[in-house]
Amino acid sequence: MTFDQFVPFARRELGVTHPRAESAYKNLFRTGEIADFLAPPATVQAVLSEDSFEGKVLKFVQHVPAGDSPLAERMAAKSLATESVLIPMIGRTGSATHTLCVSSQVGCAMGCTFCETAQMGLIRSLTPAEIVQQWWAATHALGHRPQNIVFMGMGEPLDNIDHVIKAIAVLIDHNGAHMPVSKITVSTVGRLDGLARLSEQLHTPGWHRLNLAVSLNAPNDEVRSQIMPINRAMPMEALKRTLMAWPVYGGGKLCLEYVLIPGVNNLPGHAAEIARFVADINTTSRNSSPRCVINLIPYNPRRNSPWPAPADAEIDAFMGELAEKGVFVKRRRTKGRDLMGACGQLGSEHIRKRRFVDVTKSP
Ligand code: SF4
Repeated sequence: MTFDQFVPFARRELGVTHPRAESAYKNLFRTGEIADFLAPPATVQAVLSEDSFEGKVLKFVQHVPAGDSPLAERMAAKSLATESVLIPMIGRTGSATHTLCVSSQVGCAMGCTFCETAQMGLIRSLTPAEIVQQWWAATHALGHRPQNIVFMGMGEPLDNIDHVIKAIAVLIDHNGAHMPVSKITVSTVGRLDGLARLSEQLHTPGWHRLNLAVSLNAPNDEVRSQIMPINRAMPMEALKRTLMAWPVYGGGKLCLEYVLIPGVNNLPGHAAEIARFVADINTTSRNSSPRCVINLIPYNPRRNSPWPAPADAEIDAFMGELAEKGVFVKRRRTKGRDLMGACGQLGSEHIRKRRFVDVTKSP
């Protein structure tokens, strides 16, 4: 709940005075203090850490109730786990910041063939509170207040759009987590119905700078439909038209993510097809700079992957081809691959078999 929703609720349902309700809400977010009339956020059960060139990547797990998920019932699971990743970054000035990658669902229904989470299927969507408590845990249990939040963990955020919007409303509430909306990115496979709903939301005051990232991952429908089943129902031409109409403000960019899978989507001719796709969207730019940036992500092999990770030379060669064709392209540096916390690797059994560091006990 946002502050404005919580205060009358606490007065009405919990019998708490107005000032007490106000300070309880602010303290929960600012200092992490949990008032005695509030249900505590889920504790952090486990943390895996891995060194990267910019600091420690932390992957953490919180239990959530199984709820009425039929799949969880079949698994006889009383509780499920959300997985989140804190990724360190060193800014231009040398200061250390963290990006928090949050999950919006346990599992995912989208079935992308390169993705670890897809192997689980969709178990259930998370509530707004379960999404926000990932921020609370990062900030107050682990002591790393994130400067950026990306909805790139388990799940397809637009498959759970109402709860994701409610969670963002809490995260940007100035009496709550007070994240600038421009520091939040929703990443999607390109569900067109969800994109329509999200673009309506951008007209709400204070929301227009929310960032969008779309997983493109292929140069054409044939390849995309093989690795992303959503493309069979919502092909690239329809996605392109939606992106051409997408409102981007100021110097903001539309991010197109491209997981480079060697031998699948980096073949001769693919860079040219991507360049044409991007050029059409760039024609709708309101100034001379391109609207789209391609974020090239080296494939992180899932369990039993039929494909290897690309070699550096393959990534450099594909980046060079794209740049030569006028595409604004950046490479995402891989972090957290060994602990299966890198892009497309959340929800693995592997993590559960590793030795966890229990943060609730001293070492
Ligand atoms: S890549 Fe994203 S949308 Fe696709 S299956 Fe994995 S979590 Fe779901």
